Amino acid sequence: MMNKFFLACALLCQSLFIQAAEVDCAACNQLSEQMKNMQKSELHLHIGGAWPLEYLKEISEPQEFSDLCLMLNQIQCGEMDYHNAFRIFGLISKIMDSDERIENGVEALCKDLLLDNVVYAEFRTGLKDLGSGLEGYLNAVLRGMQRGTDGTPLKASLILSLRRDTNYAIAEQTIDLALKYRHNGVVGIDLSGDSTQGDGKHVFSALARAKENRLPVTLHIGESKKETPEQQMLELSTIQPERIGHGVHLCEEGNKWIKDKKTPIELCLTSAVKAGMINDAKEHPALQLLLQGHPVAICTDDPLVFNTTLSQEYVHAATLTGLSPQKIQESQQQVQVYRFIHIRGE
Ligand SMILES: [Zn+2]
Repeated sequence: MMNKFFLACALLCQSLFIQAAEVDCAACNQLSEQMKNMQKSELHLHIGGAWPLEYLKEISEPQEFSDLCLMLNQIQCGEMDYHNAFRIFGLISKIMDSDERIENGVEALCKDLLLDNVVYAEFRTGLKDLGSGLEGYLNAVLRGMQRGTDGTPLKASLILSLRRDTNYAIAEQTIDLALKYRHNGVVGIDLSGDSTQGDGKHVFSALARAKENRLPVTLHIGESKKETPEQQMLELSTIQPERIGHGVHLCEEGNKWIKDKKTPIELCLTSAVKAGMINDAKEHPALQLLLQGHPVAICTDDPLVFNTTLSQEYVHAATLTGLSPQKIQESQQQVQVYRFIHIRGE
């Protein structure tokens, strides 16, 4: 069972989100049901922010779990800014401290996604050494994906994440492993991490090597107003990403860049509000892009941290744009050509 206080607060926050969009409850329930029944694809999900809460409760010490619930509660009630919200991942990592826990957690996550009718997922994770090296960790994730998807309608692939502060050696090793496992589940590279701590200059050469070897890259960008146009344009023009994560605060030139290239945006509405990128989901610029027919993939980012599901994100996108479930479904079917597994020609 979910911590009662946490559940009450999460429900309150969720209802505030819906109220803001002025939807009555019966229509909202019907919309939720329609979105849940729809087969969906998830293109932006960090496993470190997605472990099922029940699974974490099962394996953590009572104090660890209560600390985690307290912090989740603060994020979900909007009491945490973008910078501080990153601290939650340290807390989660303390619990997920072995390859065995990672493997079992990925399997549990697949089961959760299947309950939400997700049929394709591109998971993301940065590689860690939890006792058996980076390759041991990678194999644990891949085994969990195998166990969680075998005999199910869910197909899962893996994107390896670099952070803007990943050191050179780890970045190079990550690309080596991505290339080694490219036919065994790894489909691309992600650059993420706190964008207020500088650009990803020192991982540019690693990313260039990925691209030279036809591994597509997705770039977290426009998460904070503090990113300068110089930083954004340097990252966009150097990395030439195949997809963009968030893109909330893109500079004018950056917006033109993605429009000219038709670069798909991974839209994570709840994340953008609860991580403090914007105050109101209506402000997310990708909603307008969705209405204009620009490729926009509706995603969750970190469903545990932001207490959301892909179905709920579909509901928010429909509510805020006024698009019917059918139109949302059509837009999401069109965006599937940007799955990294397709970009690589498979
Ligand atoms: Zn993300």
